[in-house]
Amino acid sequence: MLNREKIIENLKDVKNKVVIMSGKGGVGKSTISTYLGLSLSKEKKRVGLLDCDFHGPTIPKLLGIERFKPEVLGDKILPIEFDEYFRVLSIAFFLQSTEDAVIWRGPLKIGAIRQFLEEVHWGNLDFLLFDLPPGTGDEPLTIAQLIPPPVHCIIVTTPQEVALTSVRKSINFAKKLKMNILGIVENMSGLTCPHCGKDIPFFKKGGGEKCAMDLKIPYLGGIPFDLDLMSSSDSGKPIFYLSEDKKAKAPIMEIGKKIQNIL
Ligand code: ADP
Repeated sequence: MLNREKIIENLKDVKNKVVIMSGKGGVGKSTISTYLGLSLSKEKKRVGLLDCDFHGPTIPKLLGIERFKPEVLGDKILPIEFDEYFRVLSIAFFLQSTEDAVIWRGPLKIGAIRQFLEEVHWGNLDFLLFDLPPGTGDEPLTIAQLIPPPVHCIIVTTPQEVALTSVRKSINFAKKLKMNILGIVENMSGLTCPHCGKDIPFFKKGGGEKCAMDLKIPYLGGIPFDLDLMSSSDSGKPIFYLSEDKKAKAPIMEIGKKIQNIL
């Protein structure tokens, strides 16, 4: 069987493939991929999350599962079962130590992604989320091309103009690859001062929504800057975060619901 056919066969029981992209790094793409996956799985949707961000594979750390090692059954790699509804795979699971860097050239990285698409037993899923490397270069391009269509995409940005410039590039990228753009998420959208309770738009606010309006694509919502969200990610306790009434929880759950409604 050709590689392409193998990928199609392996992903035949995946209902929706959704890539999460950003024009630049550090805007919260991995955080949103992780919490979105968790919020969908909380609604009893079967979710897979593939961490394709080779140079910053943070998803196992965010979920507190960085010491886990995937098992192999026959010729299939089994993703880590975070819980009954949520499976995860990342290059980080295959590194010797959490401090190891992936020093690979493009073809090796693409080969690994190909293997993750062909040989990982994803099984029956409502959603397979792909945390893509940032930007619109060779790597995200090849990975996005390997995923069999239809491919849906979510673009994550922060509100300030420098980030928004790269969003426009991501949108062109998605259009050229004939992806179905589900919409833009504005992350780090304002901060509530822990002392006086006032809103501080420290990266500005509303840029993502305006950008979505200008480009006539849906706006999925804004997630505020939340120190508790960062601490939960740092300590690998996202479930604890989602079980409490926290600032960013409702917007994250709301984005999950919007995506379910659209698809
Ligand atoms: P990317 O995947 O785009 O490189 P990350 O998801 O790794 O970005 O996030 C970068 C940093 O910002 C992490 O420390 C993460 O915990 C933090 N972060 C992301 N979103 C938020 C938010 N809404 N509130 C607070 N911290 C956040």
